[in-house]
Amino acid sequence: MTGGARGIGRAIVEEFLAQGHKVAAASTSGKAPDGALGIACDVADAASVDAAFTAAEAAHGPVEVVVANAGITKDTLLMRMSEADFDAVVDVNLKGAFNVAKRACRPMLRAKWGRIIFIGSVVGLYGSPGQVNYAATKSGLIGMARSLTRELGGRGITANVIAPGFIETEMTAVLPEDTVAGYKAAIPAGRLGATHEVAAAVAYLASDAAGYVSGAVLPVDGGLGMGH
Ligand code: NDP
Repeated sequence: MTGGARGIGRAIVEEFLAQGHKVAAASTSGKAPDGALGIACDVADAASVDAAFTAAEAAHGPVEVVVANAGITKDTLLMRMSEADFDAVVDVNLKGAFNVAKRACRPMLRAKWGRIIFIGSVVGLYGSPGQVNYAATKSGLIGMARSLTRELGGRGITANVIAPGFIETEMTAVLPEDTVAGYKAAIPAGRLGATHEVAAAVAYLASDAAGYVSGAVLPVDGGLGMGH
């Protein structure tokens, strides 16, 4: 589990702990909810991801379910977006997911069972002004999950994307009030989502019951992204 210290990731960690699983949570800070193994890691750095997996394996055994959730935004309109803003978001959101999936897959192949779950976003398919970098990484995760499905689908491993809409976290808390009001008006459910609602979808994709679901994009967005 990456980015398990706060927000959606924290809720996912808590959901898996509540179901009795052993959980390792890697994040920049290495903080984790009580009961989970916290590991400091930079997902953009393959060596750091390798070390985090090695620590998780030493404590808990092979990783059966991996959730690539760590993500950042550096929002601004394309005209003002620097190369550094673009690269930073790609490095964490897309290359980070690649590093995690790559390190996860060998033990999963050995076990002939595995679950790779990427946390994407409604904006990956819907688009969002000021998020050219972020939206590109989130749609990139869909191509990654579908290619992994074709590579690994015959080996008991699934790869899926969850596409949350606007979820109440620190990432959305910084948005101006009128922006949030505008979003609420556009969301058929009429409200922002809660982190536990994303965690429930992750738990489903991780379950045995979801063994025939792969290459899917599962929206958890109150209907915002319908048709995309
Ligand atoms: P937060 O900003 O609340 O938390 C992000 C987490 O990712 C933190 O734990 C942070 O670590 C970790 N992280 C950031 N960069 C790195 C890195 N380089 N290496 C390791 N860990 C890192 O985000 P949210 O919970 O809001 O979002 C989680 C995911 O859900 C993201 O992928 C986001 O794009 C996606 N999402 C969020 C939506 C929302 O409305 N909130 C909507 C759609 C998608 P630390 O705590 O140490 O800083």
